[in-house]
Amino acid sequence: MALADQNIGRKKVLVGGGGLAGLAAARKLVDAGYQVEVLEKRNILGGKWSSWKDSDGEWIETGLHVFFGAYDEIFTMMRELGIYDRILWKDHVLTYTLNEGERFDFRTAKLPSPLHLVPTLVQNKYFNWPQKLSLARNLYPMLFGSKDYYAQMDNMSYQEWHRGHGISDKLLKKMFVPLSLALKFVAPEDISAKVVLDVSGIFLRVNGASRMGFLQGSPENHLIGDHHRRQNRIDRNRRGRSYQRLVRAAR
Ligand SMILES: Cc1cc2nc3c(=O)[nH]c(=O)nc-3n(C[C@H](O)[C@H](O)[C@H](O)COP(=O)(O)OP(=O)(O)OC[C@H]3O[C@@H](n4cnc5c(N)ncnc54)[C@H](O)[C@@H]3O)c2cc1C
Repeated sequence: MALADQNIGRKKVLVGGGGLAGLAAARKLVDAGYQVEVLEKRNILGGKWSSWKDSDGEWIETGLHVFFGAYDEIFTMMRELGIYDRILWKDHVLTYTLNEGERFDFRTAKLPSPLHLVPTLVQNKYFNWPQKLSLARNLYPMLFGSKDYYAQMDNMSYQEWHRGHGISDKLLKKMFVPLSLALKFVAPEDISAKVVLDVSGIFLRVNGASRMGFLQGSPENHLIGDHHRRQNRIDRNRRGRSYQRLVRAAR
């Protein structure tokens, strides 16, 4: 679609689904001059990120809570909407809390990556040296694997990759089970090695990618509804183009 097209304002685009992806796409399209209609089957926007008040007036939140520092696209969108400051950033520490009170931290240092992780690996007492070295020996493909390499790893599960590289089973159980469940709600024996390697690679390569932030309140008040209200305002006041939201309840 040529964005310079004179007739663009008359062209209509239907976006399927009013989750974050659909709303973000709709906004881009409106900015590019299209008339957009979002088709959402539920009577609430936001998809896996929706939130609402229950009968006691308490906010119920369904999905995304953690923003990682690597979410460049979401942050760009939030900056454009003027709501980036609604993310409350935590100290840059990853804390694993395990059964029976076991816990360990990864606290990143202010060093260029991947050196930012060295002090925390040296100081970590939860894993012994042979276990830590079994991971360290295999950081190279995680850090510097090519796109082709990651794509090929889609043929095996993360557990196969981990064990095939001789990395300690304690690391699998204590570090990578929580990681893969958090990523896709899927255990290491079922998740593609590509997914875990991709994410671990970004966390290792980019200092700040694993830093966590939280929205300062409900997604409905601070992102989804706000996104939509602002979009309407942009529409009416600045662009004078029509942005339609059609919520079609399927049920
Ligand atoms: C419990 C939970 C916790 C999570 N925590 C995090 C987290 O901490 N950090 C993080 O980054 N991610 C997290 N996620 C993942 C994140 O929420 C999702 O990746 C993201 O919200 C997906 O957005 P989406 O727009 O791609 O899809 P969805 O949110 O699934 O949106 C799809 C939309 O399409 C609609 N739809 C489907 N079929 C039709 C149809 N036929 N017609 C019309 N509409 C239709 C659906 O109703 C929905 O509104 C979490 C997810 C869950 C469930």
